[in-house]
Amino acid sequence: MSEIRASDSDPLAAAEAAPAAHIPAVSVIAAFPELVEQACRVGVTGRALERGLWRFQGFSLRDFATDARKTIDGRPAGGGPGMVLMPAPLRAATAAARAWHGGQTKVILLSPDGERLDQKLVEKLATEPHTTWVAGRYEGLDQRWIDECVDMTVSIGDYVISGGELAAAVAIDAMVRLLPGALGDSESAVTESFSGQLLDWPQYALTNAAGNADIPPVLLGGNHALINRWRRERALEKTALRRPDLLQSAQLSKADRDYLSKLAL
Ligand code: SAM
Repeated sequence: MSEIRASDSDPLAAAEAAPAAHIPAVSVIAAFPELVEQACRVGVTGRALERGLWRFQGFSLRDFATDARKTIDGRPAGGGPGMVLMPAPLRAATAAARAWHGGQTKVILLSPDGERLDQKLVEKLATEPHTTWVAGRYEGLDQRWIDECVDMTVSIGDYVISGGELAAAVAIDAMVRLLPGALGDSESAVTESFSGQLLDWPQYALTNAAGNADIPPVLLGGNHALINRWRRERALEKTALRRPDLLQSAQLSKADRDYLSKLAL
């Protein structure tokens, strides 16, 4: 995992080690890029990174501060509470990230006022060869830098968290699991909630004979047509109960519609 160097003391050296063109390259600019790095090191994203399916580079804003105290924030113009990330470190970090990407990258700001992240947007972003995710802190980021450098703004939901690092980790995780070969079973991403326009069906873990006793018998019967139908019906039922809005755009067969019409919800 040599590509992960969020805490690299020489970010400009990182910028020189630009990734090969065909491997998705993801960079993060943040006050605490190590938060994103830690999330990326484990599980599906960590394994995909080790196998070279994507590349990651963190850029710490403090490495681009211009004073000895490594200041990255200033008081808001016009007064008011909190602090605002200053434009100069943001500009310098963006230039270094752009260089690491070989000159071109889509700069995506994480912010509550952005486009809401959903599976459709994740699928679109997963096709981008170069993305740079910028995490805010405090009251937010200087508008001049936003106007100059940001290509797109993304929100992970209608709530406010303390910093964009965790939001970046969420978006990057969702993207990376869609990369070819990232998941052990390539079908998983296709059958998960949202990808198939329905919520996922319930899952049961096989253990031993005694532990399997209360698993729905159809799942143990080996008849795949019946198993598929059972799963589809459970997914339809769960979606109708929890997210009926998804049924409006889902592709439903006649059997699906017949089943839904029989549900007493
Ligand atoms: N004053 C800002 C506002 O009201 O929109 C909130 C600032 S928040 C405390 C600090 C940073 O966390 C933001 O700049 C953003 O990067 C990140 N953040 C907070 N909530 C987020 C969300 N729902 N989606 C994406 N990023 C978020």
